[in-house]
This record gives sequence, structure tokens and C-alpha cells, in this order.
Amino acid sequence: MRPPEADDVELERLLAPLKNDPGSSAILTDIDGTIAPIVQDPGAAAVPAHTRELLRALAGRYALVGGLSGRRALDARRIVGLEDLAYSGNHGFELLLPGDDEVRPDPSLDGHEEDAPKFVAGLDRSELERAGIRKEDKGAIVALHWRGAENEGAAESLAHEIASEAEWQELVPHRGRKVLEIRPNVAINKGIALAALLASRPIDAALYGGDDLTDVDGFTALRTLHDDGQLSSTASIAVASDESPPEVSREADLTVDGPEGFVRVLEALAE
Ligand SMILES: [Mg+2]
Repeated sequence: MRPPEADDVELERLLAPLKNDPGSSAILTDIDGTIAPIVQDPGAAAVPAHTRELLRALAGRYALVGGLSGRRALDARRIVGLEDLAYSGNHGFELLLPGDDEVRPDPSLDGHEEDAPKFVAGLDRSELERAGIRKEDKGAIVALHWRGAENEGAAESLAHEIASEAEWQELVPHRGRKVLEIRPNVAINKGIALAALLASRPIDAALYGGDDLTDVDGFTALRTLHDDGQLSSTASIAVASDESPPEVSREADLTVDGPEGFVRVLEALAE
């Protein structure tokens, strides 16, 4: 579906500063729900070939092209399938620059790498198993999943208890859809991750696209960098779907319709 013409004009206006000076511009994007359509099994998520080719072309032209994800950075790179992009993974805890073989942990994590794993290791394992809660080790973050549990409601109640206990222990529980992430109590989010990526190059203009609440931190970071005079122009693109929270569109400069709509943004950048 093509958006109304007014949106096309607004898109051109937003993209002009980036297209006019690609050598000083960054194109950053969330992955799941933005360039990789949401699928039932997160393990099966993939970036369509056309999108991948667009990103490859953009990486050859723009100063920085990168993906930001809640996934591990290496997993993010595997899904996108491009070595010449920069990746920020695990909500900003991990950085993987083009050509890196190993992930660089964010310095904010120093001394807190084991906070969440230790907390989860102290939980009653047989209770978790009985509730059908599965543990996913994400390094400094541990995710507890209950999608498909025999009694998802009971599993969720237990997850609520675990979240409260984590808060008591000064960890940061983060609730998602049938998942609870236990994070260490350090200041990191996609906005901080975005600023760290931008700081790796001399960048004057930047675009960020995303579909979820965590991406609003990215939009906010762009606005702050602009207000501080570090970026002369910015573009925040909301990728809307039935599931996306209203804040995402509200905080963005422009809203497009799903990953297909975001492909049109990438095409316009590649023109
Ligand atoms: Mg997303």
C-alpha cells in the first residue's frame, strides 16, 4: 500500500540531508519487525533478500549503516547476513563493528556481567520447569520464556513473582510478550547504543527506524544529539503494525506501514 503523497514529500524532506552528504550520514535500524518481518518462531526470522541488497548498497555509500537489536550482536549479524554493517546487540550491551570477530561489551557493564545470571541461577529450577518456563542465556541478560507452556497463565504469575524479586535485588526486570528479561541495573538502552555507534564515526546526519517501545529510546537519542548540536539533521521513522505501541508513531518524524514501508525508505536512500 502506498502512503498518501504528503508522506512521500515529507520522506523526501527528511532524507534530503542524508542523501546530500552520505559520507557524513548514518543509517541505523532496528531488526525484528523493522527489516525482518515478525514470524511466529523468532529463530526463523530473516531479512528478505531485496532488503539485504539495499542495506549492502547503502553500506557502500553511507558513512555508517548499522542494526540495533535486543538479540545478541552475533545473532543480529547472522539474521541480516552482512559483515560490513555495524551491530549493537542485547539492547546495547554488545557492539560489533564491521569486520569485528568478537563482540565488544559496553563499558557500562563492567562488574555487572554476572548480576542477572547469578540471580536466575538462584531461582528454584524445578519450579521453573514445572511451570514450563525456559531460560535463555543472553550473556549479561537472562530471558525467561513461557510461550507454549501448558498453563501460560500460571507461568506468567510465577514470572511476575520473579520480576518483583529481581526488583528487590536491584536488577531490572523487563516484561515482553510471554517473556521476562532480567537485566543488570546499568544505564543502557537503544538510545545509548545508538549514540555509541554514532560516536564511532564523524557523523552529521542520522536516521533511525524501529517498531517497538525500546526504539523510542533511539528516537529520543537522535533528538537529544540534534538539540546538543552534535547532529545537524535527524530522521526518526516509526514502522507501524497492529502490534506496535502508539508511542512509537507519536515520537517519530514519520510513520511507515510495516517492514514493506521501511523498504521504501531504504530504496529512497539508495536512489
Ligand atoms: Mg523491533
